[in-house]
Formats: sequence, C-alpha cells, structure tokens
Amino acid sequence: MIILMKKSATEAEIQAVIDKIRKAGNEPHVDKGISTLIGVRGDTTRLEENEFMLEGVDQVKRVSSKYKEVSREFHQQNSKIKVGDVTVGGGKPVIMAGPCAVETREQLLESARGVKAAGAQILRGGAFKPRTSPYAFQGLGEEGLKFLAETRKEVKIPIVTEIMNIGQMDLFAKYDIDCYQVGARNMQNFDMLKELGKIKKAVLLKRGPSATIEEFLLSAEYIMSFGNPRVILCERGIRTFETAYRNVLDLTAVALVKNLSHLPIIADPSHATGVKKLIPPMSRASLAAGADGLLIEAHINPKTALCDASQQLTIKEFQDLMGQLKDLM
Ligand code: PEP
Ligand code: MN
Repeated sequence: MIILMKKSATEAEIQAVIDKIRKAGNEPHVDKGISTLIGVRGDTTRLEENEFMLEGVDQVKRVSSKYKEVSREFHQQNSKIKVGDVTVGGGKPVIMAGPCAVETREQLLESARGVKAAGAQILRGGAFKPRTSPYAFQGLGEEGLKFLAETRKEVKIPIVTEIMNIGQMDLFAKYDIDCYQVGARNMQNFDMLKELGKIKKAVLLKRGPSATIEEFLLSAEYIMSFGNPRVILCERGIRTFETAYRNVLDLTAVALVKNLSHLPIIADPSHATGVKKLIPPMSRASLAAGADGLLIEAHINPKTALCDASQQLTIKEFQDLMGQLKDLM
C-alpha cells in the first residue's frame, strides 16, 4: 500500500500518517520527492485504504506488482548503491572488470592494474566458481578471497566476487568483500537471499538463465525485504533456442527494469554472448538501453584461462573496448 501526500502536506500531517502505519503494526517507508510518498511495509492485506485518508493525504493505493520494496511505485528516485567508494546507479555507468576466476596472486594483480588503468572502477574475479562440469576448475576458494583482498589494498579498487552458499558468509565477512555476487544459477537460492538481506554490503544479483523479469525482481525483493537495500541487478543473458552464441542478452529487460524498479541494473555481455567479438557492440547496446554499468571479463592471457577462455578479453582488447564506450559514458 502506498500513501501519496498532497504537495501542501505539513510535517505534522506526514507524521500522523507514519504514526498510524506503526500503530497498525507495519513499518513506513518515506520517500520524499516533489510530494511525499509513504510506502507501507509488511502485510497490508488486512488494512483498509480509507483508514489512511487522513488530513494532507491525496491518495491511498495498492501496489500493483508482487514486489514492492524493489518497485518504482514504492521508491521513485533511482537508487544509488555504494561498492566500496564507487557509486552504482549515480548516472555515470560503472565498469566492473577482471578475470572470470582468480587463478594466481600475480594473474589477479596484473589484471587489476590493467583494467583499472583502462578505466574499470570495480575488480571482478571468482574465488568460488559454479561450473557446469564437476571436473572443471572450481576456483581457489578462500585463497582466492585472500588474493582479492590483497589486490584491493595494493591497487585501491573495490571487489566483487561470487558467493555460492550460506556456508561462505563468514569467509566473505572475514575478507570484507565489497560486493557479493549472486550467480545466475543461484538467483532463486532463497535461503541465501534472506541471509544477504541481513548484511550491510552491496549484492550483485544476476538474472537466472530462464527467469522471468518478475521472478528476477522478486529475488531482489527477498534481499530488500530482509533489510538490505543495496541491490544491483545484472542481466547476463537468457537461454533460448539460439545456439550461435552462449545466451541472448535481453536488453528489453534492462529497459523494462529501469521502468519497473529504482534499482540499478548492469549488463554482462561476456556471459551473455560468450563470444569476444560480440562484446563491444553488445556493451554499447547495453549502455544505450539504459544499463547503469557493465560486467566484463578480462584476463592477462585468455588462452591459458582456467575458465571461460573464449570470452575473456586481453587487457589490450579491454582498453580498446573502453575507448569505444567513451561517447556513452
Ligand atoms: C560469472 O560472473 O563468473 C558467472 C559465473 O556468471 P553467471 O552466474 O552469470 O553465469
Ligand atoms: Mn565467467
């Protein structure tokens, strides 16, 4: 339920509405735009709209979507999410780049220096890798987190890395990870989403390969409704009948999510296409569609990469890509 105050509403009238919401056992979410909007958190099914038609109230309406904290109806302004000292959703696109997986201390350090010099603001690199085959490289685990934390200090760049299960929460806290990535395969790991709702760090939530936009936003709602508003969405391609490239980068979803939600959404053309030469055009297309940033895989020597070798850019190719994005940044 949302209570829209009149432009002329006084502070006392706003406070009276807030008090009434609390008295009903719900929590208010106050959003001050041109006029004040007060969202009602919690179960509102037992509340009557006309109970809230107090002095200074213009309209009381029901939220039309299944998600509310995530919706633009509930919160009109774009949310700005901090990852370390970098703001995602602040208007200027943010580029997150780095290798698919952390392989060695040197590989990560060199990649971090390279991508930062080219203009990336956040370093990516997986320590825990969700691989289709159990025989494929599974990541360095804790050692990878340690290399990420050391590299962050050395290169002065915040880090994003994937968490695969609740059992890894303590390790992520130990290395003070700036942004917890929820991989596509874990988008509906509801128990983990609830735990991520209790932390004070950013969460990069990737869309599942066959998730609808509503399911995607409801997963974000899990994190927000458990108390963490720091959610960044990521479109990383969906599975269709097409086999000429890895996935289909759904840019319609990017444009639609910007309408439906106040949360920032970035695009991942690396995993969406799986094909190096498609990354520059799809990066440009993503920013043109309104993406708040990009996630790009770049490696010091992609030929030797332990995972996703065919889609990782060299540092030089990443620099060239950044040059091609200049007019869109
Ligand atoms: C990744 O970013 O390394 C990754 C595994 O991506 P996704 O979950 O989108 O497949
Ligand atoms: Mn990868």
